Amino acid sequence: QQVLPLPSRTRIFTISNQKGGVGKTTTVVNLASALAKYGARVLVIDLDPQGNASTAVGVEHREGTPSVYDVIVGETPMEDVVQSSPESDGLFCVPATIDLAGAEIELVSMVAREQRLARALQEYLERTDFDYIFIDCPPSLGLLTINAFVAANEVLIPIQCEYYALEGLSQLLKNIKLIEKHLNPKLKLSTILLTMYDSRTNLAHQVADDVREHFPKETLATVIPRSVRISEAPSYGQSVIAYDYGSSGSLAYLEAAVEIARRGVPR
Ligand code: ADP
Ligand code: MG
Repeated sequence: QQVLPLPSRTRIFTISNQKGGVGKTTTVVNLASALAKYGARVLVIDLDPQGNASTAVGVEHREGTPSVYDVIVGETPMEDVVQSSPESDGLFCVPATIDLAGAEIELVSMVAREQRLARALQEYLERTDFDYIFIDCPPSLGLLTINAFVAANEVLIPIQCEYYALEGLSQLLKNIKLIEKHLNPKLKLSTILLTMYDSRTNLAHQVADDVREHFPKETLATVIPRSVRISEAPSYGQSVIAYDYGSSGSLAYLEAAVEIARRGVPR
């Protein structure tokens, strides 16, 4: 097994794309699992009320489970809600429950409403250490997503190799710039990952070429193929890496993780 360089400071990624169904959650879970497999200490923060990332790493997130909601809307320290994933020693998760659906509204009238996740996370990081943190966002630009942007220092955008793949991307880039200017000067778009790639179609090649032309530095060389095993894994409460290690989807996410670790923090 490969030994990967560990980052000298915690790399905090928010996985963002206001489109639903482009592979955000899948990317969070599988990159996190891959990096943990390579020996990193990794935290997944589930910020989507659907809780799909929590499901996929196999942690409890029934209604009433202490969750990211209590951290953001309440005053619960993050360490009180973190669970370890049964999948791997180094993999942890701050789960999301359905309560989080109301948070978007509750946050509106709160003090420092954009900074609540960032503050809770920074406090937690004073007492514990992670190499990588991945925040899974809901498919909208509301206060939850803004909290993720403020807490992170890198943005990873998954792009589905389909029609309209680039639609909405310029809006997303504008939003990142606005956050950088007003709320989090450390934020940087570091990584673009092409997902659900079907190498048999011309369309997939065209989308990939387009993305690479616009984002030569950010786009990973590794592409994630469309694979049934990837879509099956969550129903077993597993990443595809635990579910079917040798499958094409698992190998692709492992390779993408290696690339992210080797490239290091962008400057
Ligand atoms: P998002 O979080 O952006 O809404 P998901 O990660 O939940 O997207 O993915 C949407 C759907 O597509 C899910 O059912 C997921 O299992 C499936 N999926 C994601 N990536 C792949 C892939 N590479 N191959 C096949 N199915 C995938
Ligand atoms: Mg999702």
